[in-house]
Amino acid sequence: MEKLEKEQHSCDCPNPKCKKEIEYTPYEIFLKKELKCKKCGSGYKLESSEIYHLKTSLNDYEKARYKFYQTLDKLISNADEIITQK
Ligand SMILES: [Zn+2]
Repeated sequence: MEKLEKEQHSCDCPNPKCKKEIEYTPYEIFLKKELKCKKCGSGYKLESSEIYHLKTSLNDYEKARYKFYQTLDKLISNADEIITQK
């Protein structure tokens, strides 16, 4: 599991009398497809298509991150000169 999936987020409970924050991770969204307040049980039922978009974004992010580290490695291995201190 990737770090981004485990990142903690929060949103306001939709019940105006409650005012508690709902804490969640993207991983929980993928798993449960809803967010529920632990205090009052109100919450949000999430759109499957939006969850799909979130997954796609996460995959794109991982691909970009992988490419970044690859490029960084390549940059050093392709360096023109090695500087040696005498
Ligand atoms: Zn609540």
